[in-house]
Amino acid sequence: LKDLAIIGGGAAGLVAAITAARRGLEVDIYEQNNTTGKKILASGNGRCNISNTTLSSNDYFGNHPAFVKAALNAFGFHELQRFFEEIGLMLDIKEDGRVYPLANEAKSVLNALTQTAQSLNITTITSKKITQVKKNDHFLVDNQPYKKLLIATGSEAAPQLGADDSGYALAKSFGHRLIPTYPALVGLELASTYPKFMSGSKTAARVTLYVNRKIKAQTSGDILFTKYGLSGFAILDISQQAAQSLDNEAMLGLDLLPTYERSALTHKLQKLLQLDRDILSLLTGFIPTKIAVVLLKSLNIDPDQKALNPKQLRLIVNTLQDWRFPITSTHGFKHAEVSGGGVDTQSVNPKTYESHIVPNLYFAGEILDIVGKRGGYNLHFAFSSGYIAGNRM
Ligand SMILES: Cc1cc2nc3c(=O)[nH]c(=O)nc-3n(C[C@H](O)[C@H](O)[C@H](O)COP(=O)(O)OP(=O)(O)OC[C@H]3O[C@@H](n4cnc5c(N)ncnc54)[C@H](O)[C@@H]3O)c2cc1C
Repeated sequence: LKDLAIIGGGAAGLVAAITAARRGLEVDIYEQNNTTGKKILASGNGRCNISNTTLSSNDYFGNHPAFVKAALNAFGFHELQRFFEEIGLMLDIKEDGRVYPLANEAKSVLNALTQTAQSLNITTITSKKITQVKKNDHFLVDNQPYKKLLIATGSEAAPQLGADDSGYALAKSFGHRLIPTYPALVGLELASTYPKFMSGSKTAARVTLYVNRKIKAQTSGDILFTKYGLSGFAILDISQQAAQSLDNEAMLGLDLLPTYERSALTHKLQKLLQLDRDILSLLTGFIPTKIAVVLLKSLNIDPDQKALNPKQLRLIVNTLQDWRFPITSTHGFKHAEVSGGGVDTQSVNPKTYESHIVPNLYFAGEILDIVGKRGGYNLHFAFSSGYIAGNRM
C-alpha cells in the first residue's frame, strides 16, 4: 500500500509530489500525456510567467474567490521564491511585479521540478490516463491501492496540449459539485464583419465591457483585430468577465484614443481639417490605416472628403472613443489559457485542500473553481495549492 497517488503531472501535481515526498511520503504521479508539464512549457510564450509579487484574492475569480486567501498567506510570492531557489531555479522579478525564471525559459522551470521529483524517488507513470478510481478503504488507481489521492488534472483549456475534462468526471464520481466551466484569458468573437477587415491591426486602447448597457469592467492595453473579432492583452484581461456575461447583452466599447478628452479631440480634428487634407489621411495620424478605413466605412463617410459637417465630426469622434461591438462568444477552449469554473470550492478545505466529502481525497490547481488574472496568477495558484496539499496530506 503506497501513501499517495497524484493524478496529473502539471504545475500543481509536481509541486505537491515534491512537497509530500520531502515529508517522507511514497508518491506516484499518473500523467496522461507522454511527458509531464506540457502547459508549463507552453506558458508565457515559452518563458513561463511563474508568479507575481502583487498577489491578493482580488486577482482571482470564482464563486468564492476568498478561498485562495489561505493559500496565498501560507505560500505567497516569497515562499514560492524560496521553494524554487531551493531546487535551483532563480527568478527574475520585473518592474510590474511579474515573475519569470531568470533563464527566461519555461523549460528551466520544468527541468527543476522533474529532476527534483526524480531525486526524491517519485515515480512518474506517463501516457496513463485515469478515468476511474475505486474507493473502499483505499483509493484504487490503475489497480494499485493508495492511502491518499490528489486530483490535479487542470482544466480543458488548450486541448492541443492534451488537456481534457476527465478530471472533472473523477471529481463528480466522488460526489463533488461542478461549477460550469468556460474559457478565460481568451479572444472574443464579435457580431460584426468589421474586425475581419482590420485583421492584424494592433493598437493600444481602453476597453470597456458593457453588460445590459451598464459598465461592468474596464481595462487598458493592446488590442488586436482578428478574423473572428478581437484578441490582444486587454481583451484577454477582460475576457473572464465577458465570458460570464454572455447570457446577457454583452458589448465591448473601444476607446482608440484614451489619452484625449472628447472635446479636445473634436477641437483638434476641426483644426486639422483646415489643412485641406482628406479625413482618411488625417485619421492615420491618430490610428492605424486599416482601422481608419473601416471606421469611416462603418459611418458611411467618404474617406476622400476634406470637409465634415458637425454630425459627421461627432460620429467620428464618438466612434474613435466608444466603438461598440456586440460579443457573441469567446474564441473557445482551444485558444484559452485557462478555464473558469470547476470543482466547487465550498466542499474543499482551503487550509488543507482536502475534500469535505471524501476523507483523504485532495484537489489542487486549475481543476478548482478558481481562475486568476493574466500575469502569473494562475501558475501561482497551481503551485501554492499543490504545495499546501503536499504539506498536509
Ligand atoms: C498557452 C498557455 C499559456 C499560459 N501562460 C501562463 C503564464 O504565463 N502564467 C500563468 O500563471 N499561467 C499561464 N497559463 C495557465 C497555467 O499554465 C495553468 O493555469 C496551470 O498549468 C494549471 O496547473 P495545473 O497543475 O492545475 O494543471 P496543468 O498544468 O494543466 O496539469 C494538469 C495535468 O493533468 C494531466 N491530466 C489531466 N487529466 C488527466 C487524467 N484523467 N489522467 C492523467 N493525467 C491527467 C494533464 O495532462 C496535465 O499534464 C497558460 C496556459 C496556457 C494554455
